[in-house]
Amino acid sequence: MGDTTERIGVLGGTFDPVHIGHLVAAADARAGLKLDRVLLVVAGDPWQKRTQVVASAADRLALVELAVEGIDGLEASSIEVERDGASVTADTLEELTAPGRELFLLLGADAVSNMSTWKRLDDTRSLATVVVVERAGEHAEPPGDGWCVEHLTIPRLDVSSTEIRDRLAHDRPIDGLVAPEVVRAIRERGLYTDPR
Ligand code: ATP
Ligand code: MG
Repeated sequence: MGDTTERIGVLGGTFDPVHIGHLVAAADARAGLKLDRVLLVVAGDPWQKRTQVVASAADRLALVELAVEGIDGLEASSIEVERDGASVTADTLEELTAPGRELFLLLGADAVSNMSTWKRLDDTRSLATVVVVERAGEHAEPPGDGWCVEHLTIPRLDVSSTEIRDRLAHDRPIDGLVAPEVVRAIRERGLYTDPR
């Protein structure tokens, strides 16, 4: 028997909406760390962004499902959408923990810089290896000692959900910044049309 440990990447986010930066980060992490699968975990209630979130959890999840269709090893996860209450990473990692499985928490450098504000941060440390996904020129380390950390450099794609929402609110194109199926679904569902 060979090595049967299943290596699972977890990329959490608000995904409001999902864009190509998220997909490149997930795919590059999968290749760079030889992960079997990367789960794009949609925050049901992103408590730190509560006043900024625009689309419903159901819409954000549906868009991620469309975005990962046809990309090898990338999957949408509804685990936080189905759970009640604030989305806490340690709760999610705990739920994903299983014998023979190793978890890799994928975080952009901006997300790592914000980690000291997390709920259950100490528990997070024992549940997964943190993979700091750095866009060319960035560097970040989790706060405190004792973390298992890997660093991965990916190309800088200067796209954010904020930029996508802003473009849609001002009737500017999002083609190329967002997967074509996602562009279509955003239009069909009438999302992000109000200026904020
Ligand atoms: P917002 O503009 O609303 O802050 P966002 O584009 O940053 O949204 P999030 O859902 O907040 O998207 O991000 C989820 C994860 O994806 C975070 O770990 C973040 O660092 C990472 N990420 C966001 N944008 C990019 C990008 N362009 N390239 C690589 N990783 C990204
Ligand atoms: Mg962000």
